[in-house]
Amino acid sequence: MREKLALLIELQKMELAAARISARKKELPVRMNELEEGFKALCAAVDGEKEKLEGLRKRRREKDAQLQSGQDSLKKTRERLFDVKTNKEYQSMLKEIETFEAKNSQIEDEVISLLEELDRFESAVKAREGELAAQRGQYEDQKAKLTEELNSLSGELEACLRKGGEVRNSIPAEILRKYDQIKNAGRGVAVVSVWKEVCDGCHMSIPPQLYNELQKSKALLTCPNCSRIIYWENRNG
Ligand SMILES: [Zn+2]
Repeated sequence: MREKLALLIELQKMELAAARISARKKELPVRMNELEEGFKALCAAVDGEKEKLEGLRKRRREKDAQLQSGQDSLKKTRERLFDVKTNKEYQSMLKEIETFEAKNSQIEDEVISLLEELDRFESAVKAREGELAAQRGQYEDQKAKLTEELNSLSGELEACLRKGGEVRNSIPAEILRKYDQIKNAGRGVAVVSVWKEVCDGCHMSIPPQLYNELQKSKALLTCPNCSRIIYWENRNG
């Protein structure tokens, strides 16, 4: 019986490992997805800021062109001053020049504040791009690790299932049936150790007589409280 128990324990070990690996295999794609989504969101945020920066640059070019044309108009009007014949015409032209000057000065102020905004924004975007580059490295690393783990899990799972199947084949059907019955009852493990009369599955004491019997290992015994298959584990040795 000791040998058969050892096989059952080995089978349980393989099946528990297979279940653990399967759970991890299901979890990994979820983690991978979270990782990808997080990085995509960061990329989108940085792209949004770059677009805003482009918008500011465009406005600056527009303002520059506006100022240039204002200055051209001012220059032309000043030149025309020399051709003026009447005082009335002269006065009206001076007024026109004043208006151009005021307009140009307003645009200049706008350009200055736009330049300040651009300065701030450019360094902010630069910092964000640096952050993104660092994050990209981390993201690629983590992704590679997850992929590698996922790949190795398939092999590990296959090995556990194969070994489990082999062990199953060398256990008598009657014992297997009992094992599967307890396992499928949904209480986790089916085979548990007992030490100093305490069942490791339910943590209750088993009768001393049963404990004595268990140490001799002549029959397949179960815990009277939780019905799991029990074996004696000598924790002194
Ligand atoms: Zn028990």
